[in-house]
Amino acid sequence: MSYNIAIDGPAGAGKSTIAKKIAKELSYIYVDTGAMYRAMALFFIRQGIRPEETEKINQACQQADITISYQDGEQMVMLNGENVNGFIRTEEVGNMASATSVNQNVRVKMVELQQQLAKTTDVIMDGRDIGTKVLPDAVLKIYLTASSRIRAERRYKELQEKQVDCDLKTIEKDIVDRDYRDMHRENSPLMQAEDAILVDSSNMSIDEAVKTIIDLFQERV
Ligand code: C5P
Repeated sequence: MSYNIAIDGPAGAGKSTIAKKIAKELSYIYVDTGAMYRAMALFFIRQGIRPEETEKINQACQQADITISYQDGEQMVMLNGENVNGFIRTEEVGNMASATSVNQNVRVKMVELQQQLAKTTDVIMDGRDIGTKVLPDAVLKIYLTASSRIRAERRYKELQEKQVDCDLKTIEKDIVDRDYRDMHRENSPLMQAEDAILVDSSNMSIDEAVKTIIDLFQERV
């Protein structure tokens, strides 16, 4: 019997920060599925492919071998053998990932890999379709969200700390556009699974959200 935890929600809701902390506390493996879509998007960008070039995407995604490994508990995404962690966190790659993750061939490939990972070990996995598609039998499903303004402010702060030049309005617009695309696509749109619990982190600290989810998990097992 495996006790997988699924966390879905829109961009910037704090999924990965929160999931990482929970993984540490529960000694779970954390799987960041967004990073896989980002690695695939990086591959397309490097090939000079544009999001609307469906045929090229269908072909190119067969040539991208994406795997996950762990070093000191940190997830490393390998693209054709290269660790691409250092290249996938840009807005350009995030937007490309959102635009190309609508593609059915891309999704089938990623979902297979994610299900394989969860088969052999207990995982906490975050993304957009984890509770609805990837891990339908997860013991706990969380839909983690926050208002778009708060998510934009968090992202703005993060970028400022990294001394990246940015503007709050543009970030919020990017977030709203990405939400819209993720929620309205034909294949596995972002939505709260029927049996998922809604956690709104707008007025919660990271640690409060972590505690809320761990308490829910402990009630379940
Ligand atoms: O979570 P993150 O911002 O890294 O994800 C990048 C993009 O990858 C998302 O905007 C979404 O379009 C896509 N994605 C997805 N399904 C997942 C995880 C991410 O479609 N399970």
